[in-house]
Amino acid sequence: MTEPGLTGSDPAEPDTLRLFFALWPDDATRDALDRAGKWLHQHWGGRRMRADTLHITLAFLGSTPAEQLDVLAACADTVRIDAFELVLDQAGYWRHNRIGWLGAGRTPPQHFELVGALSTALRGAGFAVDARPHVPHVTLLRNSAGGAPPACEPVHWPIRDFVLVASRREADGMHYDAIRRWPLA
Ligand code: ATP
Ligand code: MG
Repeated sequence: MTEPGLTGSDPAEPDTLRLFFALWPDDATRDALDRAGKWLHQHWGGRRMRADTLHITLAFLGSTPAEQLDVLAACADTVRIDAFELVLDQAGYWRHNRIGWLGAGRTPPQHFELVGALSTALRGAGFAVDARPHVPHVTLLRNSAGGAPPACEPVHWPIRDFVLVASRREADGMHYDAIRRWPLA
């Protein structure tokens, strides 16, 4: 993950960024997630996500004027949640978008508190945040056939911070750049 300037995310709209808040894995967690992706791909097929794209979306903002970045940062500044560990141990499949993912059999309350605090702050500042129930997941496969969920080696992910990410489409797929990072307590 690179940390570039804020230019050039969308040639058609130079002053907007495609943004989302996310959990971003440390190196060891990313390697473990990538191994889980390889395992799931052997069972379900499809297109594996590149290791450098693996993440959990906390709140999706979509196309956003760059001038709103300070407001977004102020929203994230209000979040006060203790660090926690996420154990990702269950494969999941969504038929409607053919995505194969890794999720948690048991999600710690801090995770939902984090999503809730962030979403509440963002809505309060006027951002339209998805109101559907949040399912913590790492997308591992796209255009996958799915099938019976294979047993997965659990991935223990220490959650110590969250990030604001800008996504941009390149010839080789999506690229995600962390713009800012907020530590948990
Ligand atoms: P593409 O949409 O081109 O296939 P992508 O989904 O990887 O690429 P984005 O659309 O920028 O890239 O999405 C970034 C992240 O936010 C992804 O994890 C995606 O699943 C999630 N996301 C996208 N749209 C929404 C939405 N409406 N609600 C919740 N999460 C979303
Ligand atoms: Mg998308």
